[in-house]
Amino acid sequence: MDAAISPTRTRTKVTAIAGDGIGPEVMKATQQILAAAGARLEWEDALAGAEAFRKGISSGAPQETLDSIARNGVVLKGPLETPVGHGEKSANVTLRKIFEMYGNIRPVRELPGIRTPFTGRGIDFVVVRENVEDLYAGVEYMQSAGVAQSLKLITEPGCERIVRLAAALARAEGRKKVTISTKANIMKLSEGMLKRVGEQVLKEYPDLQHEHMIVDNCAHQMVIRPEQFDITVMTNMNGDILSDLAAGLVGGLGVAPSANVGDRVAMFEAVHGSAPQIAGKGLANPTALLLSAVMLLRHIGDFATASKVENALYVTLEEGKDLTGDIAAPGTGVPTGAFVARVIANLGRDSAKVPQREYRRIELKQWPAATWHREPASRELVGVDVFLESSESPAALGRMLSDMVAGTAFTLEMISSRGAQVWPELGGNTFLVDHLRARFLFQAPRQDDATAEITELLTRIGSRHRWMHVEKLQRFGGADAYSKA
Ligand code: NAD
Repeated sequence: MDAAISPTRTRTKVTAIAGDGIGPEVMKATQQILAAAGARLEWEDALAGAEAFRKGISSGAPQETLDSIARNGVVLKGPLETPVGHGEKSANVTLRKIFEMYGNIRPVRELPGIRTPFTGRGIDFVVVRENVEDLYAGVEYMQSAGVAQSLKLITEPGCERIVRLAAALARAEGRKKVTISTKANIMKLSEGMLKRVGEQVLKEYPDLQHEHMIVDNCAHQMVIRPEQFDITVMTNMNGDILSDLAAGLVGGLGVAPSANVGDRVAMFEAVHGSAPQIAGKGLANPTALLLSAVMLLRHIGDFATASKVENALYVTLEEGKDLTGDIAAPGTGVPTGAFVARVIANLGRDSAKVPQREYRRIELKQWPAATWHREPASRELVGVDVFLESSESPAALGRMLSDMVAGTAFTLEMISSRGAQVWPELGGNTFLVDHLRARFLFQAPRQDDATAEITELLTRIGSRHRWMHVEKLQRFGGADAYSKA
């Protein structure tokens, strides 16, 4: 993250994207409270979302907005509507990807005055979610007319930086434990990468305890005993789902703040959407964006103003006077403006109920701009998996493919359907679809990339069947770089 600009000397320029629906209302409310608290910020307004799409900007964010973000490095953002079914991308995803905001930070803290089934349990943890990799790369293909594939890409540097972010956040907030949560028991290479890399990286942080928890159990534990968590770190989709679950423990998405951080840009936003049903009616609750702005103030090193705003909000929620309709006692809801006035009146008061935490800057390792590459100690090619469309029985297909490779460098080792071996038959009841994987092994491992043999194999298979893709079966540093059937 960018270096702090001392709040006492100069104003920090922040790109303000008000966004859609209730966005302008919660942005104005937040800016009013920050100004009253004496935050030394200078806002640079920028456009993104529905209006940008209406202007024909298919990314949802015009160049001036991207320039402003690149210049300032700090963004406060309201919700952006994602048009459904017009082929446009999500402007949120665009911004995260363009500026490589790889870390999503979602604090999960019990809020005073917001009653939930978990009230009184002292829930106070953070979900750190990898934000740009995994299935959200959005690389998808129809394999046959009825079989879809989505590519789950997990990288070693992607895992390293998200775990370092989790560790740096733990240190900045005086937290003690990092829980790496993965599905490494099933996806040993992709999800397993976060576990492996994470456990290695965390050895460099002897002041932090760390543990691994299978992600389904993590979902269960978050509901059964949420107090046990301090910092959790997850791949993109797991983190997407569990961070929403976690928000539900402490009052829901409407009051949940978040930060998206990268090496050069940090963007702070409420978790909720544009709430079009209540837009323009003065009913919006600015709590989530205000708490996101508190995270922004800590990011730029203005800890005093951050605590002042946070405490004024806590006192307001605690006392329960002048709350917006979504969180007020039935029949007592007030307009956004009255809530803002109450928070401003409470500036300078500290909450007696919420434990105060010491914060420091999050110190992140800067990644070099060069393309990341690690050469393994050795490489061997042991065969190929060919994915093909076929409605033959496994026995017939096995015979055909075996005959086809007779006399070549390959032998057919097995055929699988959706990961389960169906030839040679194991005697189960695997349901068959027209998407099969045939595994061909070389008689002896190869050191070259065997393009000629593989092309010859595909030519033979292509004469009788439709193949859709090929995966090399490699060994890196003596270890299998592919999953077993
Ligand atoms: P939503 O969060 O907008 O609304 C869900 C419910 O919560 C509604 O009943 C709404 O009135 C209420 N609500 C949300 N925020 C509130 C607030 N601050 N104060 C009072 N009530 C609040 O979710 P949705 O309806 O699924 O999405 C609406 C639009 O927002 C969609 O276009 C979606 O794509 C977009 N969206 C954007 C973001 C983002 O920009 N980060 C996140 C989620 C959804």
